[in-house]
Amino acid sequence: MSDYDRYDWDTSDPRQHCRHGKFIGSWWGPDILCGQCESGEEDPSINDMIQVYYDMIDRKRIENQAIVDFVGDLGKVMPKDLDKSFLGQAFIDHMNGSDSAIKAYKEKIQETIDYFGQFTDDYDDHNVLYLAHRAQIEEYDQFVNDMKEMESVQFD
Ligand SMILES: [Zn+2]
Repeated sequence: MSDYDRYDWDTSDPRQHCRHGKFIGSWWGPDILCGQCESGEEDPSINDMIQVYYDMIDRKRIENQAIVDFVGDLGKVMPKDLDKSFLGQAFIDHMNGSDSAIKAYKEKIQETIDYFGQFTDDYDDHNVLYLAHRAQIEEYDQFVNDMKEMESVQFD
């Protein structure tokens, strides 16, 4: 098919998005600029992307330890006959929230590896966003061709 068949401002067309996923509004050149494209900085590798989530997990663990220490210290100075159940509940609520956040970050790490790992075996490869974007374009072209074939079969 010819590129001229494509309409501008088609948000389903990956050619109208940059490799960072930002809609740029045109397949031959950007109408809307992406900050990351403009900055000219090297794209993140798989390891760079998952490191963000590992850092978040570390931060949660540090925060959890601080709360464990705080509650422990508080227990020592509070009057013995004071009802501390509210403290215990707040502590449990925090830990449950923290556990589910850590679980979600771990899932994000796995999703990132599963998705981007399709395009490179090298987790330090800074071209992985480009490779993923090119694969999206190929998939889209295949979809458009399939649709055209279906249409031509219908009208034959
Ligand atoms: Zn971009």
